[in-house]
Amino acid sequence: MTKESIVIVGTGWAGYTVSQQLDSKKFDITIVSPEETSAYTPLLASAACGLFDFSIAEEPVRHKSKNIAFYKARVENVDFAAKTCKCRAACEIEGGDMRVFDVPYDRLILAPGCVSNTFETAGAAEKAFFVRNVADAKKVQHRLRQLLELASLPGVSDQEQRDLLHIVIVGGGPTGVEIAAEMSDLFNDDFSKLYPNLKGKMRITIHDTAHFILGSFEESLREHAIESFSKRNVQVITDSKIKQVCMDSIITESEGEVKCGMVLWTAGNKQCALVDSLNVAKTDRLPRILTDEYLHVLEIDRSPMRDVFALGDAADVKKFFLPTTAEVAVQKAEYLANTLNTDNYSTPFGYRQRPLVAYIGGHDGVISGKPEWSGNRAWAAWRSKNLFWTRSWRRKLMIMAAWFLDWFGGKEIARA
Ligand SMILES: Cc1cc2nc3c(=O)[nH]c(=O)nc-3n(C[C@H](O)[C@H](O)[C@H](O)COP(=O)(O)OP(=O)(O)OC[C@H]3O[C@@H](n4cnc5c(N)ncnc54)[C@H](O)[C@@H]3O)c2cc1C
Repeated sequence: MTKESIVIVGTGWAGYTVSQQLDSKKFDITIVSPEETSAYTPLLASAACGLFDFSIAEEPVRHKSKNIAFYKARVENVDFAAKTCKCRAACEIEGGDMRVFDVPYDRLILAPGCVSNTFETAGAAEKAFFVRNVADAKKVQHRLRQLLELASLPGVSDQEQRDLLHIVIVGGGPTGVEIAAEMSDLFNDDFSKLYPNLKGKMRITIHDTAHFILGSFEESLREHAIESFSKRNVQVITDSKIKQVCMDSIITESEGEVKCGMVLWTAGNKQCALVDSLNVAKTDRLPRILTDEYLHVLEIDRSPMRDVFALGDAADVKKFFLPTTAEVAVQKAEYLANTLNTDNYSTPFGYRQRPLVAYIGGHDGVISGKPEWSGNRAWAAWRSKNLFWTRSWRRKLMIMAAWFLDWFGGKEIARA
């Protein structure tokens, strides 16, 4: 008996999870994505700051034990009438082989995620650093190391050292806050010992256009985070609009030009090129692909496409307004895999909100809905969350080994 073919677009939290949970005895599964690994995004800040080896922060899509086809390519458009994905190779070969090909499907699962939104800020796309995948995290760590080495050269003045070691983070959501936390740990502990001549000269500034940071947390927790940061040389500037990102500075509306060694952009998402190109119903905000509560993509006239599903950051269920988080992506992926495996379409998708956890540095953290849980307990909860997110036992053991070695002898990045 021939199996039905399912094509999955994307290898993020949504695409990867659904690919692993679909029954390969029942379906011929093909994944198309420019990335042959799936990033554990909650671990990227730690990996960028040397807490883990980068390989811990991603999971390969190809597994010996899984019968799944994978094409390293980008879906450029979908011909829904012909049930075909129009793909272009995305292999990083010098000179670039940009061959195009078609991938037919019986059922299609769209999970291409979002891309960073720089809100057309001058210079941001070219000069800022991002943390969306392991490649980005590697660039951040490389830049950090180069800044420290540059600042250590003879003849670099005290002011030049302070400017080079000033890290600007744009966006005070959980991602910006966690990278500030990990970096402040590195600056206050490990790097202060490794670069004693630079001690006290490293600082971080978080800018946010909103009146607060950590918008999805209670006010008392936001205040706790700002107070805790201020003791660790992390300044928070709210109501701050960035006008331009330059090579060695930013220009803000309120302060003018401020020198810095690196700008990390963690503010905002926007739709990716594929979502832009699809002629289907979309939400007003972002915009995202609109689905019904069974995750079927809706046509422009709002009728469901029975064989096309969308999930993850790229999609939202009509009238739901769910956040762009791994939590939502994974719950939808598990729901869809179960529905398709069992052929049971009677139960609509329902979302269960779990408490949000953010690390704020110095073994301190915050948990939404639990104002009394800041400090060590929140930090422990955040670490457990990291273990919970990793999908394989191998990765869980590697993380625990990294934590132990970090506790025992300091971070590998600063052990020289
Ligand atoms: C640093 C960081 C930390 C985070 N921490 C948390 C956290 O602690 N908790 C939480 O709940 N959420 C967290 N998030 C958010 C979470 O990572 C996202 O919500 C989640 O990744 C969304 O999953 P997704 O599969 O929809 O998209 P993504 O993970 O973005 O994956 C999209 C995939 O589609 C591929 N793709 C894109 N375009 C195409 C195309 N045209 N053709 C084929 N493939 C394509 C991409 O290459 C990628 O593989 C964090 C995000 C970041 C960046």
